[in-house]
Amino acid sequence: MGHIIYLDHAATTRTAPEVAEAMLPYFTEYYGNPSSIYSMGGAAKRAVMEAREEIAATLGAKTNEIYFTGGGSEADNWALVATAEAYAGKGKHIITSKIEHHAILHTCAYLEKRGYEVSYLDVGENGIVDPEDVRRAIRPDTILVSVMFANNEIGTVQPVREIGAVAREHGILFHTDAVQAYAHIPVNVDDMNIDMLSASGHKCNGPKGIGFLYIRTGIKTRSFLHGGQQERGRRAGTENVPGIVGLGKAVRLAFANMEEHAKKERKLRDYLIQRIGEEIPYCRLNGDRERRLGNNVNFSFRFVEGESLLIMLDMKGICASSGSACTSGSLDPSHVLLAIGLPHETAHGSLRLTVGPENTMEEMDQVVEALKEIVGKLRAMSPLYEDFMKKQK
Ligand SMILES: *Cc1c(COP(=O)(O)O)cnc(C)c1O
Repeated sequence: MGHIIYLDHAATTRTAPEVAEAMLPYFTEYYGNPSSIYSMGGAAKRAVMEAREEIAATLGAKTNEIYFTGGGSEADNWALVATAEAYAGKGKHIITSKIEHHAILHTCAYLEKRGYEVSYLDVGENGIVDPEDVRRAIRPDTILVSVMFANNEIGTVQPVREIGAVAREHGILFHTDAVQAYAHIPVNVDDMNIDMLSASGHKCNGPKGIGFLYIRTGIKTRSFLHGGQQERGRRAGTENVPGIVGLGKAVRLAFANMEEHAKKERKLRDYLIQRIGEEIPYCRLNGDRERRLGNNVNFSFRFVEGESLLIMLDMKGICASSGSACTSGSLDPSHVLLAIGLPHETAHGSLRLTVGPENTMEEMDQVVEALKEIVGKLRAMSPLYEDFMKKQK
């Protein structure tokens, strides 16, 4: 394989070498079960406790409010299902948005089949939820508002503090899927009126298959996995000790370097947005220009098919992502791009590039040149483009 240009940091990130190194002894040396009483178990138990303390401190949370999970999806499932069950006596109405990750949307669909009602809020053309829409959607039987912190496709950062304030004013719980935001931008659960928060290790240079759910003290919840007394009896199963140690290490590194990484990423992002916008005709930037993650670029190119674009970029060693969910063989355009009002054809011709601190300006130049060439080639093969150009004359 030649040089790979990795521009899919919203899909996953490289496990930092320091993280992998910190994890290793917990496979081979301190492999004891944290629940055991001999001292080798104690070493694992202490490591888990330290990671929990580290993470809690970054959120302004208490140590016993952090529950380790098998990743972001599990945390989202837990937050929704357990709250729905625990508060069913109060009501069965949940408010969320149309641009959530499938871990939220599909869990909502599951709850709808079980008698819950879900309101899916529209977003503006810029991909942002209006807190006033949250207020208008509240009913006497509303038990939960769940709106993501930052969107994984178009990078829009939501007015979380304001949405949390609306929920709190009405005595309703507020959950946020912060998988894309946590360890990238500052998050504080008290300042931002957050009652529950999901995060994931592999989106911030930690290992895959580990994440956590923050649950504010006093909130009723239910055990998500039944069995042993791990995670204070709420999530059974022997702790993923190496994963937890890795997550703790990744979080420490991310917070130590947050400013520096953010600055670097914003520079790369802005360069891409500017050059693509200026040098490739008939394209549009999706998502708000200012209120977006520092690493997110999402463009639609008219008369271009996103899948072909990805394949041709891949042949040049460029890893990117499209706006279509091509998993399961279907080519449904992204629900996020449809929610911001893109027509199907435009949504199909979308490309997400998410940069990381390891990317370079030279790589950005190579990507822009590759894109210009590929978009030109694909348009040259498009009958729609041909018609369009004829009409322009
Ligand atoms: C990646 C992601 C998830 C899922 O996290 P996993 O750890 O992969 O399960 C959930 N929500 C958002 C916004 C994501 O980007």
